[in-house]
Amino acid sequence: MFIGGEWVVAVDGATREILNPANNQVIATVADGNEKDADRAIRAARQAFDEGPWPSMPAAERAKLLLKLADKIDAAGGGLAALETRNNGKPLREAKFDVADAANCFRYYAGLITKPLGQNYEVPDPAISAMVVREPIGVCGQIIPWNYPLLMAAWKLAPGLAAGNCCILKPAETTPLTAIKLFELIADAGFPTGAAQLLLGPGPTAGNALAASPLVDKVAFTGGTATGRKVMTAAAGNIKKVSLELGGKSPNIVFADADRDLALEYAMFGIFAGQGEVCSAGSRLLIERSIADQFLPRLAAACDKIVVGDGMNEKTEMGPLITRDHMRKVLGYIDAGKQEGAEVLCGGRRLSGPGLDAGNFVAPTVFVKTKPAMKIVQEEIFGPVLAVQLFDTEQDAIRLANDTVYGLAGGVFTRDTAKGLRVLKKLRAGITWLNTYHPTFNEAPWGGYKQSGIGRELGTFGLEAYMETKQININLAPTKLGWFANV
Ligand code: NAD
Repeated sequence: MFIGGEWVVAVDGATREILNPANNQVIATVADGNEKDADRAIRAARQAFDEGPWPSMPAAERAKLLLKLADKIDAAGGGLAALETRNNGKPLREAKFDVADAANCFRYYAGLITKPLGQNYEVPDPAISAMVVREPIGVCGQIIPWNYPLLMAAWKLAPGLAAGNCCILKPAETTPLTAIKLFELIADAGFPTGAAQLLLGPGPTAGNALAASPLVDKVAFTGGTATGRKVMTAAAGNIKKVSLELGGKSPNIVFADADRDLALEYAMFGIFAGQGEVCSAGSRLLIERSIADQFLPRLAAACDKIVVGDGMNEKTEMGPLITRDHMRKVLGYIDAGKQEGAEVLCGGRRLSGPGLDAGNFVAPTVFVKTKPAMKIVQEEIFGPVLAVQLFDTEQDAIRLANDTVYGLAGGVFTRDTAKGLRVLKKLRAGITWLNTYHPTFNEAPWGGYKQSGIGRELGTFGLEAYMETKQININLAPTKLGWFANV
């Protein structure tokens, strides 16, 4: 763990073995902290914020350090990507993309923090000069999941640090390795002591302590909706600022007039990129009924050909699930789908054979003949499982698409741009695509409607989320107020 500018072991000396999901072999042993370590990290961040140079350092100086860090991430690129793949399982080509995106996230906020902030305005009293300034919130606890370990760390640290906060990052228990490497680069870049800490340990202890501590001013959480609810509850104690990026069950809508080759590829990319362990995964495919008979056999044939295996193999198109437990959970959903009467179009099972038995591999799975109330249609599976739903009209598609407690993302495929835009505007979701699925940018706000979260990360919105807003009123013509007769 990296706390107060030093590498430390857990207070209680506990450690945790980190596994490669492609074969469940131990690849590292890391410190495993708890509330005591959280307390140490919080105090270090508190001291750095209250007394250290970081919050008041000129933005240009903070930006310089963020740019230095970005260059270091790029320089470590190949090694970081391989480490991500070995720890998370995702194919190497995806990990390489994440590393480049993480570096660019630091660059983006290095640029943004030096741009105009705040407001200047006239008020009805000519004696008063008024302005709004933006200030860092303070100590920020940042809790992230295992599906994009490095990228989520960047999404949290880059705006948090750019704004002048002192941060405590807590990666998921299972995937700390690229975060550890990132903090080596942070230490190397020369950030002031206490600007950023790395806290390792379980969510219910170390994570909860960040959410609950009265010394923490903001908690930024990315993870499951049920955990988000706990974080929000714990954060209520001192009314800390809360931002939540939670789960999804996002619709991908294919109209009959769509470019079907394009729609087919993106339907697959939408759900099988990252093994389906992606919050914005297009896990529900809504197809206009008139093309289903033609579209679905092609989808089944293409899914059966997806190359599943160890992400380190260049040919691999889909990797293993993060843990044995998670694989069991996903297989449990597949069983539930079968029991509830949906039909397996392809996949629907664990994959076995040479190179697969020791890992957590599940076949790309598509369910048809689903009903809206089924578990596989309503619940976030977070695995390579696609539920197909059929619709007849545009209104039908919108109604089905929004029939979920989530509201993270959604896609539409049609050659009719006006129709596409009409439907996107009706989606109760924060991230939408027309004739594509998944591309997202550091420049654009990321976050969900409904139970997919609170607030936005990335873009200018992501910086806002790490700043307080202060009005300053300066009396340029001080005269006696005359309010009280006897003063
Ligand atoms: P999770 O909720 O189990 O864990 C996320 C993080 O929270 C981990 O670091 C964990 O240690 C910590 N945690 C667990 N219990 C906690 C508690 N009581 N208090 C504080 N922290 C606690 O989620 P996961 O299984 O790691 O990730 C999968 C989930 O993350 C999915 O639901 C996915 O949709 C979501 N996710 C959302 C986004 C987004 O941007 N909306 C991005 C990635 C993942």
